[in-house]
Amino acid sequence: MTIRHRFTGRTALVTGAGSGIGRAVALAFAAEGANVVVAGRRREPLDETVDLIERAGGKALAVTADVSAAADIQAAVDAAVEHFGSLDVAVNNAGVFRGGASLTDLPEEDWHTQLDINLTGAFLALRAQVRRMRTQPSGGAIVNIASNIGVHRRAPGIAAYAATKAAVSVLTRGAALDHIADGVRINAVSPGPVDTSMSLRPGETEAGRAERMRTDAPLGRVSTVEEVAAAVLYLASDDAASTVGTDLVVDGGATA
Ligand code: NAD
Repeated sequence: MTIRHRFTGRTALVTGAGSGIGRAVALAFAAEGANVVVAGRRREPLDETVDLIERAGGKALAVTADVSAAADIQAAVDAAVEHFGSLDVAVNNAGVFRGGASLTDLPEEDWHTQLDINLTGAFLALRAQVRRMRTQPSGGAIVNIASNIGVHRRAPGIAAYAATKAAVSVLTRGAALDHIADGVRINAVSPGPVDTSMSLRPGETEAGRAERMRTDAPLGRVSTVEEVAAAVLYLASDDAASTVGTDLVVDGGATA
């Protein structure tokens, strides 16, 4: 049996790591030996993620950061380097969903919030991360969290959110081409519905979501945060050394 520690001695920065997919990704990196910087807007959930990692024997640092603020995401990159000595992996996972309404009913503020966090946040993070990683002899790997509802699938009531996520997929491909020569590998993961509160429609219970998924995805259920984390770790690892600019869909076959 081989016990894998693909990230021993490496430092991974995960945004939106106080909950859901981001927390699962942070725990998975720590379990494979990485030092993990967990970034997000609210301190308390980040501290909980750090606590979970430390209690399992790992190393982690919480940094309060709003990904839509360039100075915040730069400070998170700087904290990773100051505290752990390098930035080898970054996962741009922070995101928000303001939906359930047709475009004409979507408040302008919700349009801007989704654009600022989901797309501008990804751009600002990528820029700060690549600028650091390209100075390191070992380069780095970045994984952006898009969504199967971006370029891969359509659904009513979520046009604005879907547009931001399609843009993240496209940004990933372009950035990957721009920076592979710098030694930085950039890819995306596009989950379908995952077992977090974000996949619940307004007023929907978990039982209602499970019923919906029976017909919505060939697999017949939502994906788990651990399944999404496994895809992220693969793309961030040396196992994916020749995988550049891809968008790995994890959605139970919904877009198959
Ligand atoms: P979640 O709400 O648990 O996680 C989102 C995290 O991002 C939260 O911790 C939140 O505090 C953080 N965040 C929001 N705005 C931020 C900001 N400005 N700066 C820093 N952090 C911020 O939901 P999740 O399901 O874990 O979502 C994670 C990612 O996965 C999101 O990008 C989401 O769009 C994407 N996604 C989720 C699903 C799903 O079904 N859950 C499907 C496809 C894609």
